[in-house]
Amino acid sequence: MLVAERLTPLTNGTSSRGASACIFTVDVEDWFHILDLRTAPDLASWDALPSRVETNFLRMLDLLEEAGARATCFFLGWVARRFPGLVRAAAARGHELASHSYAHRLVYLMTPEEFYRDALQARHVIEDAAGLPVAGYRAPGFSLTERTPWFFEKLAEAGYLYDSSLFPARRNHGGLADAPLGPFRIKTAAGELIEFPISVIPVCGTRLCLFGGGYLRLFPLPLITHMADRVLASGRPLILYVHPREIDSAQPRLPMPPARRFRCYVKLGDTERKLRALLDRHRFVSFLAWMEHAGLTPAVTS
Ligand SMILES: [Zn+2]
Repeated sequence: MLVAERLTPLTNGTSSRGASACIFTVDVEDWFHILDLRTAPDLASWDALPSRVETNFLRMLDLLEEAGARATCFFLGWVARRFPGLVRAAAARGHELASHSYAHRLVYLMTPEEFYRDALQARHVIEDAAGLPVAGYRAPGFSLTERTPWFFEKLAEAGYLYDSSLFPARRNHGGLADAPLGPFRIKTAAGELIEFPISVIPVCGTRLCLFGGGYLRLFPLPLITHMADRVLASGRPLILYVHPREIDSAQPRLPMPPARRFRCYVKLGDTERKLRALLDRHRFVSFLAWMEHAGLTPAVTS
């Protein structure tokens, strides 16, 4: 398996020092950044499309502020280049800046060199927008798979210190079904990284994630909070992930097959209520703040 021989688990270094165990993450992209879809517009046409990310992301920052929460904002490099003011707004409101690649391409469809260049470009654009260092990365579609054994090394080479791209369950765009559930360190020839797998819960021999995307929108809140408590009781941090478009029920719809359409657009009008309830129930922080509290702060240099 991809990571087994190179990892060191981070045992509950976390809550024992009184840190909040909940991490809020936003993948900052627009309504048309839908992966693996023939009808999705390509990079060359993005600049000409009507954007909704500014309005939606600023609304999300308001939600976080009302709750006194801090988040890690994984900016798409393209968004940071087109709307540098959004990067600065996130930083000014106390959130961590991180990278969601530049062009939103699935990792396993790139060569190692293409991946490296995209990850490096994204880091530079985001850092230039705010004048602050970027330490974290999240791959589009959590597309770290058995097909990308070079992933961590290339990421370290591109100057990143931690990652949250591993989806430790089966999934359309990636996933490693037998990967560790909790955070771990991983050594590569280019340096060491900390990996934060997305939060999943083992249920009847399968692993379920209810803490982001279509899962968060589809499942009822009582089930989500019950599962969140189970993650926290296991000593792992709870990692929530959302996109600005998920609080925008009026966004344009891209043509797609019915099953995909359901997953993409189900219950958009309900996301804000669920986020408010979760923000009210838990104290959310960024990855960097979590690491700081756990004594794990990577040495950020830029
Ligand atoms: Zn994305």
